[in-house]
Amino acid sequence: MSKVIVSTLYDSDVFKMACRQFDQAADAINLPENIRDRTKYPRHCLAVALQIRRDDGSVTIFEGYRVQHNLSTGPSKGGIRFHPHVTIGEVAALAMWMSWKCSLAGLPYGGAKGGVIVDPHLLSLSELEHLSRRYMQEMVNFLGPHTDVPAPDLGTNEQVMAWMMDTYSNHVGHIEPAIVTGKPIAIGGSQGRREATGAGVAYLVRKYLEDLAIPIKEATVAIQGFGNVGSETALALQNFGAKIIALSDYSGGIYNATGIDVNKARAYIRSEKILKDFHGGDAISNEQLLELKCTVLAPCALERVITEQNAGRLQCRILAEGANGPTTNGADRIIEKRGDIEIIPDVLCNSGGVVVSYFEWLQNLQNYYWSRDEVMTKLYAILDKAKESVEYQKRKFKFSRRLAALTLGIQRVADAKAARGLFP
Ligand code: NAD
Repeated sequence: MSKVIVSTLYDSDVFKMACRQFDQAADAINLPENIRDRTKYPRHCLAVALQIRRDDGSVTIFEGYRVQHNLSTGPSKGGIRFHPHVTIGEVAALAMWMSWKCSLAGLPYGGAKGGVIVDPHLLSLSELEHLSRRYMQEMVNFLGPHTDVPAPDLGTNEQVMAWMMDTYSNHVGHIEPAIVTGKPIAIGGSQGRREATGAGVAYLVRKYLEDLAIPIKEATVAIQGFGNVGSETALALQNFGAKIIALSDYSGGIYNATGIDVNKARAYIRSEKILKDFHGGDAISNEQLLELKCTVLAPCALERVITEQNAGRLQCRILAEGANGPTTNGADRIIEKRGDIEIIPDVLCNSGGVVVSYFEWLQNLQNYYWSRDEVMTKLYAILDKAKESVEYQKRKFKFSRRLAALTLGIQRVADAKAARGLFP
């Protein structure tokens, strides 16, 4: 019988949510007690004070974290989030989900995540560079191409990854592109990485629409979050022929029953930074967007936005989780009971990002670069396989799709831990 330390370190609603999901999945597969807590509990965490000189000469300290959940199946992998509401518990939950996601996709990675409590919109470009470089500097001994490999997440992007890669390379004295993924192509980024997460979401949505015999040209789509994941999902689904009827970002949303021109919205964001006042439709709130009548609802921003309060009012046929952890445990129960919504769970739905991150890392280690076609073909093959195994598990054990995906991911991590044994 193993005993887990009852920790208050990660105490937060989102960490409890990830733990409840784990417990439910572990019960469903009768995961032995002596492996359960070892599989569940995050392995390492590091908290750092990031001291940044501001443009006006003053100094501000930002708090940053990195949590490595699992290192048994390979180097840990996961994004770095810059957001004012980051907590170490949230980072730990996201790290846990990365473990199951990598495992489900069959990638030789564990899970990790990083975060800094900061609103990046309030920093100048040079302050953002100082913060990104300082984060990597403080983490230099904690990260590594064979230890833990970060990537972009909410509030970070290719440029942030470039500064982090440059900082690490300067520290070790030679170029080390494999230290982060999601880099610009000019410094070892992969073809297709920028669009990979959204392209993967759209690919899976198309597959599930086919399963439901809904022609994609008849599908209407509402997307919360119009950053990397949301905007690439919108563009790919529009290119497949779907009609995008609602979009949003942190400033609010827009709705247009006749369809929003995603290219125009992307151009608007490039120049104005936020969707507010984009003349592509009528203004709606983020809360209203979630309850719109549509074929596909894709939350692509924050976790815990589909709750017990609004789950009963959703009017979509497919809930495609582009974001990590957008649906609370209570909302899950309501949706399962309703039985009229197909959830594509986050660990499957948005796994295209980490799959192409894996390709980028491989290309960096080999110094041999692939074409975009090669990347996308290999990505879709992995997503097909993951979807197939989830559907098989779902049918075989009569699980919900989330439970099917989580049990597959968790079982593989637990098997690796059992095979390696306990050292010392
Ligand atoms: P991003 O920073 O590029 O975009 C985030 C978007 O969400 C922005 O449009 C922002 O305005 C919006 N947003 C922020 N707060 C909001 C709020 N309160 N209400 C509504 N919208 C809000 O981030 P991203 O990389 O697109 O990540 C989005 C989600 O997808 C996160 O959950 C992230 O963990 C997940 N994810 C990202 C990747 C990736 O490759 N970037 C991969 C897998 C999963």
